[in-house]
Amino acid sequence: MIGFQYARAADVADAVRLMVGDPTAKFVAGGTNLIDLMKMDVERPTTVIDINRLALTEVEEIAGGGLRIGALVRNTDLAYHPAVEKRYPVLASAIMAGASPQLRNMASTGGNLLQRTRCHYFYDTVTPCNKREPGSGCSAIDGHNRMHAILGTSDACIAVHPSDMCVALALLDAKVRVAGVSGERMIAFADFHRLPGDTPQRDTNLGADEIITSVELPPRGFASNYTYLKIRDRLSYAFALVSVAVGLDLDGGIITEGRCALGGVAHKPWRDHEAEAVLRGQHADPATFARAAEMLLRGAHGYAQNAFKIELARRCILRAFAQATRGTPQSQSSKKIV
Ligand code: SF4
Repeated sequence: MIGFQYARAADVADAVRLMVGDPTAKFVAGGTNLIDLMKMDVERPTTVIDINRLALTEVEEIAGGGLRIGALVRNTDLAYHPAVEKRYPVLASAIMAGASPQLRNMASTGGNLLQRTRCHYFYDTVTPCNKREPGSGCSAIDGHNRMHAILGTSDACIAVHPSDMCVALALLDAKVRVAGVSGERMIAFADFHRLPGDTPQRDTNLGADEIITSVELPPRGFASNYTYLKIRDRLSYAFALVSVAVGLDLDGGIITEGRCALGGVAHKPWRDHEAEAVLRGQHADPATFARAAEMLLRGAHGYAQNAFKIELARRCILRAFAQATRGTPQSQSSKKIV
């Protein structure tokens, strides 16, 4: 690990001031990803700015019926928060599907959004990787790519975003509140993460001087008909091969609103509004869900080792919709497939 300076921010304005003063600095909250990256020599911040004393640890009601989640709310606290369990159970379920209890106890809401891909070449500093070293090449495209993306890829990068929580936040149409030198702004969740394009080194649209202060949930939580289904190589402490978050509003078996977000398949949580439009006003039955799945996966492209993900994703989408329709969401505690 390299040597670095340590600074502790007193408040949000102080955190922004410290970051502007040292553009190669990094914020640290739980440190569950950054410290690993520093140990592997992938991240080399000259200063680590500790933001753990910022007053961003509350989950609060907001006008109109939504919820504001402070950026420093720990993943465990968020998953077990009564308002989240009751009104946004798909979010609680997605969080519980991720990592291990120890990591969830430390990992913060803001940090979850900013975690980096787990592409093994990204962590292996002796191999080419456009995300780590722009212009060096992508080792995964013709290498080991079993865990990699099938949607939204580019010739520069085929990495996937590793978060479970972000898949649920994408489904819920969350917004990200950020603060920087020019004040505060809100970013729609769909616009927060980026596809790789020819700049895979940039994971998000967060400005260099900006810090996430909260994530806001709108009132609609799909509390009755939802599921978060995650398929992985082992039943805990593994990243998704494919994950699917589904939310349905039903009126006598007819879908009045249907959403689906995919994880483990792209550089960002994957939503497709055209595919969701297929659901509206239709019977909640296998034929409708099959049409939506076909639309969702119409641009999918497999590589040498991950083409199986296309069929896996299709089956997961169908199962997730069926579970949500029945109101039998995936159990993340028993890990039983229902
Ligand atoms: Fe790097 Fe992306 Fe290629 Fe992985 S997929 S080696 S992160 S450029």
